[in-house]
Amino acid sequence: MAKKLLILHTGGTISMSEGKDGKVSPSAENPLVALLHKLNHPAQLHQEAIFNLPSPHITLDHWWQLKERIEQAVQQEGFDGIVITHGTDTLEETAYFLDLALNVDIPVAITGAMRSSNELGSDGLINLQNAILVALCAESQHKGVLVVMNDEIHHAKFVTKTHTTNVATFQTPTFGPCGLVAKNRVIYFQQLNHYERFPVAHLHKTNVQLVKSYAGMDSFLLTQLAQQGCDGVVIEALGAGNLPPTCLEGISALLAAKIPVVLVSRAFNGITQDVYDYLGGGKQLKQQGVIFTQGLSGQKARIKLLVLLNQPLNSSLRDYF
Ligand code: ASP
Repeated sequence: MAKKLLILHTGGTISMSEGKDGKVSPSAENPLVALLHKLNHPAQLHQEAIFNLPSPHITLDHWWQLKERIEQAVQQEGFDGIVITHGTDTLEETAYFLDLALNVDIPVAITGAMRSSNELGSDGLINLQNAILVALCAESQHKGVLVVMNDEIHHAKFVTKTHTTNVATFQTPTFGPCGLVAKNRVIYFQQLNHYERFPVAHLHKTNVQLVKSYAGMDSFLLTQLAQQGCDGVVIEALGAGNLPPTCLEGISALLAAKIPVVLVSRAFNGITQDVYDYLGGGKQLKQQGVIFTQGLSGQKARIKLLVLLNQPLNSSLRDYF
């Protein structure tokens, strides 16, 4: 019997069209829906336009609605796989939230497009077909949410958008993709050795802020956050995990206010480490209580912190990063 797949359209360029003025915009009717018959796959497809939003409009509430819809589709309606279509600007964040929070074991693939439905060289249909093939593939199970773009498959945890317009925009820095779609074949060649899932039941603590560091940065923003109060702060630090000494007052203020501070690097590749022993260096930051991460980007670390803050933990927050 053909496998039953649910396609959840959320909007983005893949669901948009280019007008005569060259501008790209959403329309009431998703152009993808009329084109589905062109795809070549053995699945029984059901589709729903759960939202029709450009991805900069996607919020935590939308992530939650997607989580609930997917869990219902699997637990009550017997779907064998899920495909999500999404705008590429925040696709990696929706993918990682679902990767951490979804409580399902069937394959979940997410895709988008860099060129809208009627642009020359539009990549929407082929990306959708590839995502369907990935969602149908038995090997895609237990891999978390998979981002399928430009014939590549990436784990949600590390993938990021790297180019504003190029169709080869999605990359996994440091590690590379985990698989390929070569014509109609899905091929995996590596996997994460540590796949984590937190079946979060609610999101009450959602004020987690993300701050980028820079040469000469002062403590203004960090002190403001400490004074105003928030649930957590992620800082995109310099290099291997260092900050200008002029930030230290802000770091101390956050930690004194019992606000968790997670450090990632603003560098594209690599992990943060407490190797440097100077004022503002990683060694001192870690001793002060700042939490270091292993290769997550700022936007991903923010999601992980958010999920962990809403979850009963068996040990300290630091142990989870
Ligand atoms: N701005 C668009 C969006 O994220 C970009 C895209 O989908 O490629 O909705």
